[in-house]
Amino acid sequence: MLVDSHCHLDFPDFAEERAAIVARALAAGIGRMVTISTRVKRFRQILEIAEAFNEVYCSVGTHPHNAAEELDVTAEELVRLSSHPKVVAIGEAGLDYFYDRAPREAQAQGFRTHIAAARRTGLPLVIHSRDADDDMAAILQEETGKGAFLFILHCFSSGRELAKVGVALGGYVSFSGILTFKNSTELRAIAADVPRERLLVETDAPYLAPIPHRGKRNEPAYVANTAKVLAETIGVSEAEIADVTTENVFRLFTKMPRPDVTAA
Ligand SMILES: [Zn+2]
Ligand SMILES: [Zn+2]
Repeated sequence: MLVDSHCHLDFPDFAEERAAIVARALAAGIGRMVTISTRVKRFRQILEIAEAFNEVYCSVGTHPHNAAEELDVTAEELVRLSSHPKVVAIGEAGLDYFYDRAPREAQAQGFRTHIAAARRTGLPLVIHSRDADDDMAAILQEETGKGAFLFILHCFSSGRELAKVGVALGGYVSFSGILTFKNSTELRAIAADVPRERLLVETDAPYLAPIPHRGKRNEPAYVANTAKVLAETIGVSEAEIADVTTENVFRLFTKMPRPDVTAA
């Protein structure tokens, strides 16, 4: 079994055939999917999707792109919304200096609000970081100094140093389809150096479909393609990488129950 630790099932790309996509993922051995919130304003819709499928769980939070629109969302509100049994994580929040869709100060402020909520709930924080390695490392160091919290550097595509800092602070590192791209040699080298007990896989669907689906719409079933490349990268079997990453998921997403194997 594999878990897609990060996808966006609420995006319009999936509207027509969401049930078919979940069914395809299950048929491909993806036993759990976490659909990630990008706007607290849209949380209702995300929760409805998580409630509609046994195997789908969700997060609550504001993507850095939308940070300026949701600065009024408090840590208290995130904590309150996350009390629903289907909510297993906070985020995604963080810093995106590649697109700079929100002012950087707004991104940082929103990010720190999400950190506070993660600390208070004990739920893992899904961190989005793009072209912001130094500021991300600085905030993580400062905030973990104030009090520990669990976190994932999702869709990791940053530099080696940020991976090191994240792991040193107790974080997990999640790899998407980018890992499978031909020119991702450095990223694979970074993945090979992440301790196995901190590795996760994800699709970030509908974006970033792994090879051989590159350029098409991504979906949770394709997380298997990324897991296969991760296995090759660190020199283990596909069965082993499935075991390792799935164990990691359930250690981290403590609110998400394991599938009942006896019922399968
Ligand atoms: Zn992201
Ligand atoms: Zn995402």
